[in-house]
Amino acid sequence: NAKELGRNGFQFFAEEMNLKMNSRLRVETQMRRALERNEMQLHYQPKLDIRSGTINGLEALIRWHNDSLGMVSPAEFIPIAEASGLIVQIGEWVLETACKQTLIWHNMGHASLRVSVNISTRQFVRPEFVDRIADIIEKCGLPAQFVDLEITESALTHNISETITILQRLKAMGVTISIDDFGTGYSSLNYLKRFPIDTLKIDKSFVDDVVERTEDAAIVATIIAMAHHMNLNVVAEGVETLEQLDLLKKGGCEEIQGYLFCKPQTAEGLTDFLESFRRKGCTLLKYKNR
Ligand code: C2E
Ligand code: MG
Ligand code: MG
Ligand code: MG
Repeated sequence: NAKELGRNGFQFFAEEMNLKMNSRLRVETQMRRALERNEMQLHYQPKLDIRSGTINGLEALIRWHNDSLGMVSPAEFIPIAEASGLIVQIGEWVLETACKQTLIWHNMGHASLRVSVNISTRQFVRPEFVDRIADIIEKCGLPAQFVDLEITESALTHNISETITILQRLKAMGVTISIDDFGTGYSSLNYLKRFPIDTLKIDKSFVDDVVERTEDAAIVATIIAMAHHMNLNVVAEGVETLEQLDLLKKGGCEEIQGYLFCKPQTAEGLTDFLESFRRKGCTLLKYKNR
């Protein structure tokens, strides 16, 4: 109890807060110049279509290396970028970089590759959001149907009717919409059916124990069944074992993403991966079906 901790407890708490604020401020200060200093990079992680054994899409994941802070994980700096508003600039850089890189892969013959970009709530609720997305995609020259936006449930449940309008405008442009980390938010099924979306990404936390825990297996099976009733695609994120893959495949999940198939890697690394995949086909599924 906080009262019982008394003065010392409070002091300890205050010092800890201060430490947090300091590092927060340090991160924010460094982040302000990160783009102009070329400290940000995108890694890409493919999604494997487990029915056809093809790679239809990739997700762009931001990486940041700063000289004084070292590698800072997006889980740490994205919330700070959101709070400070820097996410807007960073998010636009991510979309532009991802579209340009995907166009390069298209020109190498991987012409059906789609790219998913994570969008944070702070970006999504801006009045300029849809126009900016349209401008950037057009400027890059990648046809919009190859762009997928990953949005979390919490971003979508801010203001339902406004959200529907924004999603409709995005869809009219040709981009597709995925709900990221699905199952961890609070979107009601009633809203979900009204959103013009394409894909549900089952959160890693359900995939983690899907083999060991019947509760998680039930949740995953329910999400897949519901998605199919609503004509939505399902992607399972964070798949690390063949047993998980097996179970997801039996359950009718369309796509998987995770270390089992491929870790996120640099554009160069992923180019090699795509080229060897094109030569050899999907060894992971071949192994499974042998
Ligand atoms: P997310 O969008 O749900 O991305 C999935 C995260 O799981 C990524 O972490 C990815 O590297 C990791 N992952 C993928 N497969 C596996 C696996 O098999 N095992 C394990 N343990 N992890 C796996 P990452 O790259 O650290 O990103 C964390 C989160 O940061 C993302 O979660 C996303 O919410 C956010 N984020 C990343 N890049 C961006 C960005 O460009 N913009 C925004 N707004 N958010 C981003
Ligand atoms: Mg994502
Ligand atoms: Mg996710
Ligand atoms: Mg996640």
